[in-house]
Amino acid sequence: MKQSMLFAPTLKDAPKDAEVKSHKLLIRAGLVKMTAAGVYSYLPLGQRVMKKIEAIVRDEHDKRGCSELLMPALQPRDLWEESGRWANYGPELMRLKDRKERDFCLGPTHEEVITALVRDHIDSYKKLPLALYQIQTKYRDELRPRFALMRGREFVMKDLYTFSDSEEDLNAWYDTMMDAYTTIFKRAGLDTRIVASSTGQIGGDVAHEFMVMSEVGEDTISYCTKCEYAANQEFSGLTDGDPCPKCGGEIATAKGIEVGNIFKLGTKYSKSMNAYFTDRDGARKPLVMGCYGIGISRTLMAAVEQHSEENSILWPKSITPFDVHIVPLAKGKEAQETIDRLYRSLNDRHDVLLDDRDERAGVKFKDADLIGVPYRIVAGKTLQEGKVEFTDRYKNETVQIPIEDVEERLKQIL
Ligand code: ATP
Ligand code: MG
Repeated sequence: MKQSMLFAPTLKDAPKDAEVKSHKLLIRAGLVKMTAAGVYSYLPLGQRVMKKIEAIVRDEHDKRGCSELLMPALQPRDLWEESGRWANYGPELMRLKDRKERDFCLGPTHEEVITALVRDHIDSYKKLPLALYQIQTKYRDELRPRFALMRGREFVMKDLYTFSDSEEDLNAWYDTMMDAYTTIFKRAGLDTRIVASSTGQIGGDVAHEFMVMSEVGEDTISYCTKCEYAANQEFSGLTDGDPCPKCGGEIATAKGIEVGNIFKLGTKYSKSMNAYFTDRDGARKPLVMGCYGIGISRTLMAAVEQHSEENSILWPKSITPFDVHIVPLAKGKEAQETIDRLYRSLNDRHDVLLDDRDERAGVKFKDADLIGVPYRIVAGKTLQEGKVEFTDRYKNETVQIPIEDVEERLKQIL
């Protein structure tokens, strides 16, 4: 892609309301732009990263037998009355009326819709298990929307729901998804920690959260300094110096960003919403459910937080908006032709961003650092001798190489 055609309005300074590093960078690099408090537009660079995160999520779900669907954001009150959450969800639920004065909400989550979908078609154990997920926009009128994508009022979530005929099958799905999430965050280049948590608003029995450890996280995690015990402090109540409930070791605390969570819902929704099936023994039983969420947009933010410095991002290979950034400094017709040829040949195989803008070198480099592409090719003075500067930003290493070697080098690392 030619940078002159990319809508990535980079900024020298961050807006005043941006307190944390990733928030500043998201805006300064032109990844997202605020439309209203807690409501963001994803600009082309941000959208590219989102798509890459989503692709990893889809791959790890599809591989495990989950299938993707898409449910509506607009949901009728009746369904929420059935589950009892029209009254219980509170002011976070975005409520609205249609022209006939009928009540609706904008879905903060989809237990009601999916349970209603499935109950009409799953009448027998023979049709179970079932694992359905979507990647969709959620709405929550958060009391304190902040830190850009961290706590939005509109955000992108992956939500999976499993339907089983027994506790054992639910437990198997739970383990499968714990493994899937571990793989997903690893593939996305994020360092996460699994912590036990309470089930909160969604309800149910057992839950775990996936945390990106970070000073700017809104959650506090109590963990044992001796064994692997870790829990959300909201749930454990444990603080620094307390004894570990598992091994007696010493508890310490740290901040984390919750990027995903998994819940054993059990039969809470199937019972209240009358979703039953006939089992092998002929008995009618409520479906046993699990639900599993990933904050896709929050993951994007956490990735920036974890992989950046004050004025630059360095994307993990798997989610970078572009693989290679060509920054031409040499001027003249001949130089331009050489650079164009290089761009076209690399672009067939990789995602290449070519800075074809008529800007000073300083501006180009500042923007390139902000945008955060891991491999950079600078075509400057030595282009006359047929050479370019190749930078591997992970290794912080720059070498001069002949143009004809660039393709081979990229083949080896990408
Ligand atoms: P939190 O405790 O942060 O409010 P939650 O327990 O309400 O999260 P879920 O309802 O389980 O979260 O949603 C699944 C995932 O969606 C969360 O793990 C998080 O990554 C993401 N998420 C939740 N609320 C928001 C929000 N307001 N903005 C962005 N992402 C969110
Ligand atoms: Mg919440």
